[in-house]
Amino acid sequence: MADRINLSLRRADMVAFRTIDEEGRRPVVHVTGRHVVALCPSCRRPSVTTNGTRWREVIDVVRTLVITLSICVRRFVCEWEDCEQRTFDERFCGIGRGGASERALSFFADLARGRATRAVARDLGVPEHYLRLAVASKRSVANERCRGRLGAHLAIDEASLEKGFIYATIFSDPGRGVVIDVGPGRDGAVVWAFCGFYSAEERKQVTVVTMDDDGRVGSWRGDER
Ligand SMILES: [Zn+2]
Repeated sequence: MADRINLSLRRADMVAFRTIDEEGRRPVVHVTGRHVVALCPSCRRPSVTTNGTRWREVIDVVRTLVITLSICVRRFVCEWEDCEQRTFDERFCGIGRGGASERALSFFADLARGRATRAVARDLGVPEHYLRLAVASKRSVANERCRGRLGAHLAIDEASLEKGFIYATIFSDPGRGVVIDVGPGRDGAVVWAFCGFYSAEERKQVTVVTMDDDGRVGSWRGDER
């Protein structure tokens, strides 16, 4: 049972570690962030230091299955002295402050079209006001925001994962405030490897590349025509 749901979560930024799938109840998938780093919402620089966790429940839809994502959200510490943000919760693409993910809202909006909201809400077992939220202007936004894994702005930073011993290259989207990927090492090879995951079409979405040291922009741009 667990595998069926885990495999179809299709999120590169989360790891599912437990699924509770009881008859007649909405499946609950316990997840945690996959990346060892998170972006500070104030200064947009990556942080690797955590300071506790809290649980957060969000209604999500995997294909057509409505589930509860039970997220073990890590609290990070921003250790940059010039930043006023002391701690922050990690963020996930398509999951805002509300109780339902953007893809869930989008799915509900499609279902609610032409049907009484109350009936749809009862069928799905979700609070009615999520559906009202959904049929409002959320739809187009929800569909657009997470379509590409890359955003318009790609930030490439270096981070020390273990106090100066293990270095990693962090690829993030400051616009969405999320980490896209973490690669081993800090040389050009890791940028090449990252590029390889994306089609030329996807890479074209990126209009700004920023990095914490120069010399690697060429690696990213080099194979683009
Ligand atoms: Zn900061």
